[in-house]
Amino acid sequence: MALDSKVPKGPIKDKWTDYKNHINLVNPANKRNIDVIVVGTGLAGGSASATLAELGYNVKAFAYQDSPRRAHSIAAQGGINAAKNYQGDGDSTYRLFYDTVKGGDYRSREANVYRLAEVSANIIDQCVAQGVPFARDYGGLLDNRSFGGVLVSRTFYAKGQTGQQLLLGAYSAMNRQIARGKIEMFNRHEMLDVVIVDGKARGIIARNLVTGEIERHSAHAVVIASGGYGNVYFLSTNAMGSNVTAGWKVHKKGAYFANPCYTQIHPTCIPRSGDYQSKLTLMSESLRNDGRIWVPKHREDVLAIREGSKKPTELTEDQRDYYLERRYPAFGNLVPRDVASRAAKERSDAGYGVNATGEAVYLDFAASFERYGKEQAKIHNISNPSEAKIKELGQAIVKAKYGNLFQMYEKIVDENPYETPMMIYPAVHYTMGGVWVDYNLMTTIPGCYAVGEANFSDHGANRLGASALMQGLADGYFVLPYTIGDYLADDIRTGEISTESPEFEDAEKEVTQRIEFFINNKGTHSVDYYHKKLGKIMWDKCGMSRNAEGLKTAIEEISALRKDFWQNVKVPGTTTEYNEQLAKAGRVADFLELGELFAKDALIREESAGGHFREEHQTEDGEAQRMKEFQFVSAWEYKGEPKDAVLHKEALAYENIEVKERSYK
Ligand SMILES: Cc1cc2nc3c(=O)[nH]c(=O)nc-3n(C[C@H](O)[C@H](O)[C@H](O)COP(=O)(O)OP(=O)(O)OC[C@H]3O[C@@H](n4cnc5c(N)ncnc54)[C@H](O)[C@@H]3O)c2cc1C
Repeated sequence: MALDSKVPKGPIKDKWTDYKNHINLVNPANKRNIDVIVVGTGLAGGSASATLAELGYNVKAFAYQDSPRRAHSIAAQGGINAAKNYQGDGDSTYRLFYDTVKGGDYRSREANVYRLAEVSANIIDQCVAQGVPFARDYGGLLDNRSFGGVLVSRTFYAKGQTGQQLLLGAYSAMNRQIARGKIEMFNRHEMLDVVIVDGKARGIIARNLVTGEIERHSAHAVVIASGGYGNVYFLSTNAMGSNVTAGWKVHKKGAYFANPCYTQIHPTCIPRSGDYQSKLTLMSESLRNDGRIWVPKHREDVLAIREGSKKPTELTEDQRDYYLERRYPAFGNLVPRDVASRAAKERSDAGYGVNATGEAVYLDFAASFERYGKEQAKIHNISNPSEAKIKELGQAIVKAKYGNLFQMYEKIVDENPYETPMMIYPAVHYTMGGVWVDYNLMTTIPGCYAVGEANFSDHGANRLGASALMQGLADGYFVLPYTIGDYLADDIRTGEISTESPEFEDAEKEVTQRIEFFINNKGTHSVDYYHKKLGKIMWDKCGMSRNAEGLKTAIEEISALRKDFWQNVKVPGTTTEYNEQLAKAGRVADFLELGELFAKDALIREESAGGHFREEHQTEDGEAQRMKEFQFVSAWEYKGEPKDAVLHKEALAYENIEVKERSYK
């Protein structure tokens, strides 16, 4: 099958406007006769449901949690990007577009990214109108901070709870439509298959997680907004329930899946403490605005710290290696996530990791306490403040910015991060891969769409911070509501889709059989036993560093594990009650299939991209080469000559850097 991205012709900056001016529309009276199913009510699905209902479509929204408010989007901490240029620091639609494409290692679809940058400003206006309490500066204007991989401040935030506040906004907009009867909300319902009738997506099979009932739901179009699949690694920063099932089911019914192996490994997470952990915790990237990352310069200090005979605060400045500031002076601690993660792993692998597992680096706020403290002392006319006073004043500012994150760290690690530097290490965080979509956000199944983290299009091999919320809300509030009309215009006379058809019958039968199998298979191992084993294979062989041999072994191991799962998995309870293990069995079964595709994708790529590096290409100076490329392209831009992403190679040539054989497909 030839993939057609349907990217409109014309200059990139005019594509979206021209396109909107010429696509088919559905008139308001006809919208009342059209049903749309939205699977997922996080930021992408919640915003899509609310907007489609506001436009007049009949929406049926599904979520496996007890309320849209509990979607994983609620966990988002740091912020949301928008090219508003409120800081007057040179931001523009073009710069946001350019940063996103460059940050994604030149592997995103540029037309989609330009559109994303274009609508980003509308998102902020929409959310402010909903009452989202974005942080404001002293004068009452919306405040911004900076995230990795950019040279401007364009991130809007609500303390460390941006996702929660945005989700409350989308949820309020949904509730208005639920009250009007335009959205029918199915909480605690899990989609377990998509139904294709005459080649078009016409409904889903869902399971009521409370009663166990299997239900048929029909619609004229189905939107998948089910989030990311980072939990294929078992340990990740994702919510425990995040899974791939909805995306995987549409893939198995014919939708293409793109870039499955591109995973974001976030540099600032709380390090793993041992083997019995079920979850990893993110420390927001926003902390890199004020925290400095370092490891000891000398191995003897590393060992002393690990043994507990020395404290990090005892090391003088010249005994510390602020390795990001040393390597990337232009970006310092705010390099993109993939660069920061690789650098932390490189230092830890070289023996400089500071905790017992050897997998941790420091994120230190001492310099910010001092900087803010001195400023505050001046503001409050305190002459000759003591060091303690400066620290106290500075800490109050840091607390106001990131207090909840510091509190969370202390609760988990049992160390006070105001007194001793935080320890951080990269962890699986976001999946750039997902269901393939065209410019309309439609998958290769007609009438089946994918939005938010569930699709693949905007972030290439690496997502810049604060751009997932932007993409989810852009898709839901401003893109899908237009593009879906172009397709639905052909359905104005179709009438209600019946669920009494062989297609619904077959799909329901398949789902029921699978559920009964799990309950009736009196195996020996729990679902988590398999999930954990899969996660270990994924992290060890398909994680940040990969090689062909390891990936081939991973493919064999996953296949054997899957076979074992289907023979020996044990699921307690019954099918007709709330049964979390039963729900998880289906999700892990899908992860066991996705894991293999993931490893195959990584094997075929033969490239280092984003947070991953292929060890075969890791010649002595391999990583140095990638870092040099990043540095020089940055320096080159810095001279005020930003160029199109496609010119990246030329940029290197311009700087006389030899481009080693690394794919830029
Ligand atoms: C700790 C953390 C912090 C983050 N911070 C930021 C940040 O500061 N800025 C930023 O831009 N990004 C951030 N991200 C990323 C961002 O939060 C996510 O990418 C984004 O929220 C995903 O939104 P979504 O709507 O696509 O999916 P989700 O919010 O994951 O929603 C998925 C929805 O799908 C439903 N669902 C899934 N499967 C099924 C099924 N089979 N049947 C029925 N329903 C189903 C769920 O119930 C849920 O409603 C962060 C991520 C993490 C993990």
